[in-house]
Amino acid sequence: MLDVDFFRRWMAAAAAAVDREADRLTELDSAIGDADHGSNMQRGFAAVTAVLEKEDPRTPGAVLMLAGRQLISTVGGASGPLYGTLLRRTGKALGDAPAVTDQQLAEAFAAGVAAVGQLGGAQAGDKTMLDALLPGVEALGTSYAAAREAAEAGATATVPMQARKGRASYLGERSIGHQDPGATSSALLIATLAESYER
Ligand code: ADP
Ligand code: MG
Ligand code: MG
Repeated sequence: MLDVDFFRRWMAAAAAAVDREADRLTELDSAIGDADHGSNMQRGFAAVTAVLEKEDPRTPGAVLMLAGRQLISTVGGASGPLYGTLLRRTGKALGDAPAVTDQQLAEAFAAGVAAVGQLGGAQAGDKTMLDALLPGVEALGTSYAAAREAAEAGATATVPMQARKGRASYLGERSIGHQDPGATSSALLIATLAESYER
């Protein structure tokens, strides 16, 4: 069973990964966006770390809903509301159980990813975070390691795509040949989920 500590570990690992990879995320966003994805994610997850310490949520669902709310209120860019919705919707789907199964998490995360699609109107192949989240969540039914690999492959697969949503879409064909920053951070989020499970 996955308890509150597991979800806290996941959020802490995500914050650390975002810190470590911030320069790379910003570099990717400087090629096809406005060069702020690394700092947006860093600011957001630092705020998540702080609020989780301060408020001490007692269920997995409460951890993710609080984290999501914090991302929405601290990240100004497109990624704030999208990641905020992902975590809030996932948390909401987990309900108020003190611990959840792997399958419950996989189902809740699928609901979270679907909510990202609804909010942003993007589909697979539009060169967004969904190109890592969709294959990641699909493979989550198999294993955490499979989800991690699928999300990383999904992020890499955005390179030849032309962006159809978000800032990068303004570049039209010039968005081709660059990896999407949001797909890259989504692969990190899923990689840290897998790491938290292995520990
Ligand atoms: P901003 O574009 O506002 O500066 P960020 O740089 O933090 O925000 O995030 C950019 C990322 O957000 C993109 O790389 C893409 O993955 C994701 N994104 C943007 N618009 C959408 C959308 N409509 N649906 C899904 N993801 C999106
Ligand atoms: Mg940006
Ligand atoms: Mg921006």
